[in-house]
Amino acid sequence: MAGITLQNIVKKYGDGFPAVNDVSLDIADGEFVILVGPSGCGKSTLLRMVVGLEDITDGDLTIGGKRVNDKAPRDRNLAMVFQNYALYPHLSVFENIAFPLRLAKGKHSDAEVTKRVNEAADLLELREHLERKPANLSGGQRQRVAMGRAIVRQADAFLFDEPLSNLDAKLRGQMRTEIARMQRRLGTTTIYVTHDQTEAMTLGDRVAVLRKGELQQVASPRELYEEP
Ligand code: ADP
Ligand code: ADP
Repeated sequence: MAGITLQNIVKKYGDGFPAVNDVSLDIADGEFVILVGPSGCGKSTLLRMVVGLEDITDGDLTIGGKRVNDKAPRDRNLAMVFQNYALYPHLSVFENIAFPLRLAKGKHSDAEVTKRVNEAADLLELREHLERKPANLSGGQRQRVAMGRAIVRQADAFLFDEPLSNLDAKLRGQMRTEIARMQRRLGTTTIYVTHDQTEAMTLGDRVAVLRKGELQQVASPRELYEEP
């Protein structure tokens, strides 16, 4: 586990106005931070810089006390969950969850893989579905498999990019509860981008409001709620 520190982070695409402009934010080890703001304000760009999918134009990004600006995504040990989770249709739920461990060649014994996949499946209530194929799962179960694939790596942090936006309202509520439970159980540092007011107000320890690439406000949900 690890805290994440953004220090005067800037992202410019070409010579235009910065997509992210001088953002500084200290996220404590184990903290759950929600990132909100209107479309185009820079949320995805910020998340992609943290994961390493986008170069940082200026500033320092520190994870677990180490500057990672120049580290490749695979060397940052973060797990990202998108709204369009792509599961492998020909693989069982077990193998979908195990996939990141199988990629890390030679690092994990079969016993270790089985243990970790079962732990993830228990946490996400997927234990009875491990032999099934994605096509035979509900939308919520599929989203849980995608989360299983993220948590099985025992990453230093989770990065969620509107993970529930493709689900219907009922399922969204259910998954919201599960994500909160999972994050608290694992105590993994989390950045969670959302458009959803309820997610913003209930999931996180703090809410960061981004506007035109700048951090406008960082406050607890309660502080935001009580504001006039
Ligand atoms: P959000 O996720 O909040 O909707 P984005 O991070 O996607 O915002 O976009 C922030 C700004 O950066 C927008 O003005 C967008 O047009 C611009 N932008 C995003 N990606 C690129 C890109 N690959 N090239 C050029 N401009 C981009
Ligand atoms: P690496 O550690 O080599 O960067 P990853 O474990 O991040 O590899 O991903 C390996 C492959 O698994 C990727 O090519 C990607 O297609 C797929 N994958 C991993 N996680 C996800 C995810 N959350 N959503 C969709 N595809 C994923």
